[in-house]
Amino acid sequence: MLADTALLEAFAAEVAGCTRCVLSETRTQVVFGSGPPDAALMFVGEAPGFHEDKRGVPFVGAAGKLLDKLLAEIGMTRDQVYVVNVLKCRPPGNRDPKVDEIEACQSHLFHQIELIQPTVVATLGNFATKLLSGSPEGITKVHGQEQHVDLGGSSVLLYPIFHPAAALYTPRMLDVLKADFARLPALLGVTGSVTPLPDAAPAAADETTQLGLF
Ligand code: SF4
Repeated sequence: MLADTALLEAFAAEVAGCTRCVLSETRTQVVFGSGPPDAALMFVGEAPGFHEDKRGVPFVGAAGKLLDKLLAEIGMTRDQVYVVNVLKCRPPGNRDPKVDEIEACQSHLFHQIELIQPTVVATLGNFATKLLSGSPEGITKVHGQEQHVDLGGSSVLLYPIFHPAAALYTPRMLDVLKADFARLPALLGVTGSVTPLPDAAPAAADETTQLGLF
């Protein structure tokens, strides 16, 4: 895995200077991702927030602490998983990512997946789920439903989960998150039959999608 580490580090150094979108003008630094380069499980969140932008590490704020707790409940730790975001730079005021920003940044994420080659990619929230599934179906409808997708040149198991921040805003969401996390160990050992996502359909304009988290 030394070669993978070197390639990933070289790519991180390259992305650190990225100026493909306007977020490069307001960021403190690029938040590339963190974790072992041979991780079987990758989490993909939305974008760095205030603390992530300052420290250069994804999921270090309140949502990150909840992610750590959810991992602990399934017997895993942060140093076993690779954590990234769709956007590598913080949107000002933690606003939602814009379409042109996602388009500018997405190849960075795809190349990270190509280098890491995870078995399971767990998308956290709407932005990562819609980007990597290629479907407009929102997280409320598809969470907890895995499907095989081709990403980064290989087949991975895509597993949409609510963003941990959703449980910070809506405590009842914690039980849903725990239930979806509870299936991760089995998914990491499963390559056979899985439940496909529903067929793509126009995005439902339900009120929860406006938060971006649901
Ligand atoms: S968000 Fe992505 S595309 Fe935009 S400047 Fe940062 S790394 Fe580059």
